[in-house]
Order: sequence, then structure tokens, then C-alpha cells
Amino acid sequence: SLIGLEAVTGIALKFAIEGKLTSAEEIETGHINSTWKVGFETEDGEVRRFILQRINASVFKDPMGVMRNVERVTRHINERVMRKKEDVSGQTLALYPGRDGRFWVPDEADGIWRCYNFIEGCRTYDVVENEGQAYQAARAFGAFQDLVSDLSPELLVETIPGFHDTRSRYEHLMAVVEENACGRVAEVGEELAFIREREGEVDRVLNLLGRGDIPLRITHNDTKINNVMIDEASDEAVCVIDLDTVMPGSVLYDFGDLVRTAVSPAEEDETELSKIVVRMPIFEALVDGYLSSAGGFLNDSEVTNLAFSAKLITLEVAMRFLTDHLEGDRYFKIHHAGHNLERCRAQLRLVAELEGKMGEMEACVLDRVKTLSCGARDSDG
Ligand code: ADP
Ligand code: MG
Ligand code: MG
Repeated sequence: SLIGLEAVTGIALKFAIEGKLTSAEEIETGHINSTWKVGFETEDGEVRRFILQRINASVFKDPMGVMRNVERVTRHINERVMRKKEDVSGQTLALYPGRDGRFWVPDEADGIWRCYNFIEGCRTYDVVENEGQAYQAARAFGAFQDLVSDLSPELLVETIPGFHDTRSRYEHLMAVVEENACGRVAEVGEELAFIREREGEVDRVLNLLGRGDIPLRITHNDTKINNVMIDEASDEAVCVIDLDTVMPGSVLYDFGDLVRTAVSPAEEDETELSKIVVRMPIFEALVDGYLSSAGGFLNDSEVTNLAFSAKLITLEVAMRFLTDHLEGDRYFKIHHAGHNLERCRAQLRLVAELEGKMGEMEACVLDRVKTLSCGARDSDG
């Protein structure tokens, strides 16, 4: 990391934490922010651990908006958990203020730092290895959405405008094709044809939102398994972290992206396309886990589109990779020439696989909804 221990120590002292800083260690697993684990020792020898995190300013153009969202959401969750004593584990993500009372501290390089409690006794996983993990991850993201389901989405800033505006993503891709700035369009004819054939589907969730069939809610927008804190002893999810992309949106994008990243055993940029498959038992576990915590607030339209949402978000991500490839790899970091095209191809293969299993996936959702014991599912009719 470019950030040294000395700088982190200086930042740590600007937060209103009791005691003496006794340790600081970088956590290298995140891909976006710069994250440090620090320990403070009080006079009577008690050690408490915290997370110090520098927001990546090249990814987040509006770091103040990001912080406002994180503040609102963490405060709401902690108030609600305290009021209703809903949280069994006793651990939720909370911000600690700086000595000036604000929840962020600036550094000398125009960076913004914040401080969270360290979620103890947990670990994160990078890939979903089994059904148990899939269930826990989905349950955790559903629980997060449930905890903020009574907070008005209008209170949050849309920190990445049009993040899931699939229609604009499509139109932007077509404009980039028209321009052909890097002369790469000729080699992607097949991919473009595949995407064009599915144009009709890019509006489906947008239209449902527009008609009010699907409500605008508060969503996480980075629903990967490595953002779920899993209890080391019990293997159960404790809470979700990484709230930088919390925004108003449809919960379908959260569920869909979790399926996209969890359902296939292959990497996002797998070049051996036959390795990209839909593991039905994993999908079933995702549905089970998600409905166990989100089943109470989802409406019928949302439930009906859960399976479709996986396909839609995968298509959206494929379009973004292809757009970046045609524009000369300006957004996603590439490790070799053609990397974004490989990523696009892997995502399009996953779209095709999901299409092949769509009937089965939809049947699975219906089947699981029927077995939900609470009456919440009948309240719409
Ligand atoms: P990024 O956006 O870079 O992925 P994250 O907020 O996900 O940043 O943090 C990176 C890693 O740091 C996480 O995967 C997790 O292992 C660890 N981490 C972050 N916040 C906490 C926390 N409050 N308690 C314990 N570990 C944390
Ligand atoms: Mg993360
Ligand atoms: Mg993040």
C-alpha cells in the first residue's frame, strides 16, 4: 500500500477513541478502499479493535455523499436493533466520530477516513464453496435490506447516478459501437448480436419501478460474499459490511448480483467457458436464505422477478465490460490485453446458462415462497 504506518497512526489519533494506539495492521483483502485494523488499549488494560478505512476517491466521486449515506444507514440500523433487540449476534457496523464530532477525518492527500467498530470473531470468504455459505450470505443481505426497509430511500444520495439504469447502459454501449474509437468493434460481432437480441429485456425492472409495481428501496449494491462477516465458531452470518454503494434502488439488483457472483464456480473472467455453470443447489440455498430474511417485506412483483434479476444483472455487467473494452479499458483495471472482452464473454456465457435454467429457477422460487410460513406473502392480494 502507498499509505504508511505513520500516516495511519496520525489518522487514528484524530478519532475520538479512548486509550493508546497499540497496533495497526493493513487488511489487504478489499479491492476498493484502503483498510486498516487498529487496536487501542485503555488505562485499565482493555484492548479494543477498530477499522480505519480510506475511501477510494477515484471510484467514489462524491465521498461526502457516500459518508452521508453510510451515516444514515448505520445510525438507523443501530437504533432499530437497540429498540427492537432484533440482533441476536450483538454486532452491527457502527461509525465512530472524529474528535471534532464529524464521522470522517481528512488526510493530507485529500482523502477521507472513517472509523468502524471491528466485527469480532468473524471471517470473510472470497468464493461461495457450499450451500451453507450461499444461504448465510443471502440471508445476511436480505436482513440488511429488511433493517433499512423502514428508512425512506429519498433520504439517501444517489452516489453513482444511473448505476443500474440498464437502458442507459445499453444505449451507451450502442453509442460506443457507433464511435468505434479503438477499432475493436469488428471482433465483437457475436457478442453484440447476443446483446441486441436481448434488448427487450433491459427495460423490464426499470418499467416495473416506473409503474410502481416494484418499490424504490434502500439497497446494498455490492452483494458479494466477501462483504458478509461470518462467525468463525458457528459459520453463521453476523452482518454485512462495505456500505459505500448503499443507494436507492430495486432489491432485485442486490439479489441478482449475489446470484451472478455465487452461482457459478468459475471466476468472473473465466476463459474456459465450459466451466461456467449454474449450480442449482447453490441457487436454491440463495433463494432460501434470502427469503428467510427478506420474505416478509418483498412484494409479489419482486418475488416473481428474483430469478430474472440474476440474468438481467449479468447482462448489465457484460455490457459494461464490453463497453469498456471498446472504449479502450478506461474503467476496469485489466491484467492483460483483451481482459475486458474475456470478462464480457464469461458473463454472456453465464447469461446463456441462466436462460437455460430459467424455468427451473422460477419454479424453485415459487416452491420456496409456498413453504414460507409467515402470512406476509398473502397481504398483497
Ligand atoms: P472494500 O470496499 O475495499 O472491499 P471493505 O469494507 O469490504 O472494503 O473492507 C475490506 C475487508 O476488510 C473486508 O473484506 C473485511 O475482511 C475487512 N473489514 C472491513 N470492515 C470490517 C469490520 N468492521 N470488522 C472486521 N473486518 C472488517
Ligand atoms: Mg468489500
Ligand atoms: Mg466496497
